[in-house]
Amino acid sequence: MKERFNRFMRGRYGADELSRFILVLFIVCIIANAFTRSNLFYAVSLGLLVVSYYRMFSRNHAARWAENQKYLSMKGRLLSKLGLTARQREQRKNYHIYHCPSCRQKIRIPRGKGRICITCPKCGHEFTKKS
Ligand SMILES: [Zn+2]
Repeated sequence: MKERFNRFMRGRYGADELSRFILVLFIVCIIANAFTRSNLFYAVSLGLLVVSYYRMFSRNHAARWAENQKYLSMKGRLLSKLGLTARQREQRKNYHIYHCPSCRQKIRIPRGKGRICITCPKCGHEFTKKS
């Protein structure tokens, strides 16, 4: 049985980050459906299941890979916009990020130095902030 499954999966794309995300969405929809008994969630969860199987058993690796890359870049952009990347969280612990009131340049100031006068490196505008 395992041998047959392995033969079946040979050359197929399998799971990636995007399939895991689709699986999570699927579970969310199943739970939402259980609570609301809404046909919408049922239909969406069915659709997600079909998409996820289609991607796993697909032989078109280039297309699936491109979809996954697209998903990863969208996820990266969203996390970065929300300030949730590991690097940004680390930065926030040690630095304040201010925007220059005159040119909107981002300026990184170490925390815990009291009130300081900041000179914008881009336009030279000076302003005072608590660090
Ligand atoms: Zn400036």
